[in-house]
Amino acid sequence: MNEELSPEDHRALAARLDLCHFEEDAPAMVYWHPRGWVLYKLLEDAAREHVRAGGYREVRTPQLVRRAVWEKSGHWGTFHDAMFACGEGADEAALKPVSCPGHIHLVKRMAPSWRDLPIRIAELGLVHRDEESGSLHGLMRLRQFTQDDGHIFCSEEQVAGEIVGFCSELPAFYKRFGFSDISIALSLRPANHLGDGAQWDRAEAALAAALDQLGLPYLVQPGAGAIYGPKIEFVLRDRKGRAWQCGTIQLDFVMPQRFDVRYVDPNGDKRHVVMLHRALFGSLERFLGVLLEQHGAALPAWLAPDQIAVVPVTAAHHAYAQRIADDLAAAGLRVRVAAQNESLAKRIKLAHHDGVPYQIVVGDREMADGTLAIRAREAQWWAPVELAVVDLAQRCQSRPRLPSAQ
Ligand SMILES: [Zn+2]
Repeated sequence: MNEELSPEDHRALAARLDLCHFEEDAPAMVYWHPRGWVLYKLLEDAAREHVRAGGYREVRTPQLVRRAVWEKSGHWGTFHDAMFACGEGADEAALKPVSCPGHIHLVKRMAPSWRDLPIRIAELGLVHRDEESGSLHGLMRLRQFTQDDGHIFCSEEQVAGEIVGFCSELPAFYKRFGFSDISIALSLRPANHLGDGAQWDRAEAALAAALDQLGLPYLVQPGAGAIYGPKIEFVLRDRKGRAWQCGTIQLDFVMPQRFDVRYVDPNGDKRHVVMLHRALFGSLERFLGVLLEQHGAALPAWLAPDQIAVVPVTAAHHAYAQRIADDLAAAGLRVRVAAQNESLAKRIKLAHHDGVPYQIVVGDREMADGTLAIRAREAQWWAPVELAVVDLAQRCQSRPRLPSAQ
């Protein structure tokens, strides 16, 4: 992070807000600081809440997996250079670049019948990819990151319903983070696609029908699908008009066939399941970078590392300010006491500069009559808003509601 960065660059913001840093000893892997980890955990919580509401069960699968699995999944053949491999002979293995094979093992072990489908599995999967050093870029491209990964295992007849369920929830999910400009692309079969043409026809038609049913406009991208199936991609546009591809749902008939994952249909026949790979954030770390590029230091109150700054007028008010801060922290809010050895004006300005959404200045009057004057970032600078503490708590914790579970 030595190069000259714009103050609005997420790397500069991450340093200024004391969120994280990088070291040469672990290139492109994040050292999270306490304030950054708070933010990261909030993304984790949002992902968990969403998948729970969507009927997923959360799992965890191994980091280091033997070569034979990656050969079967096709990663060893096509992605080997970007995998961290170790060991030799029968022990040769690689750190997982994706969680798909792990989830396949779980479902195979379940030996499901048609009554068990769809099976929805989610994992906050820590993955490693040995990206070339020239392509690395702050939080946007890392060698170690966390995917909000999830897979739906279903019958071919269930695909359309699952796609509709996933896509219908996305606009509300992204809105919570301040993104409302979302564009959608439908990527169709590439020249080197696997699987038979009739299956591709049905899959592409199912994805298009789902988007049509929801009335979501989309751009068709011929040839841009994955080799194993078509995909829908969700692109967020930030305040500067830059596009960030985040969410995706991809249909895959190939991996269930390669790993021979079947379910028993109502006639007692064993049929291959269809697999949908899906993510909302993509990479949590990258999404955090996108959030910083979108909002600068002024993150929405529910995501702010510090939600409230309690600012004592003089040293004589420190103890009282600390008591108020303790009460607010006990109510579950994230609070800092701005008691640095600076002028009152400078401390208020600093908290504002750091994007703290609410400030409470305490002096003689507040101590005498027990009232609090709360200033809100969204209000005009210096314009105090009348806000009871209970309203403050509500404002700090509220966010747009998720759609109800399907
Ligand atoms: Zn996957």
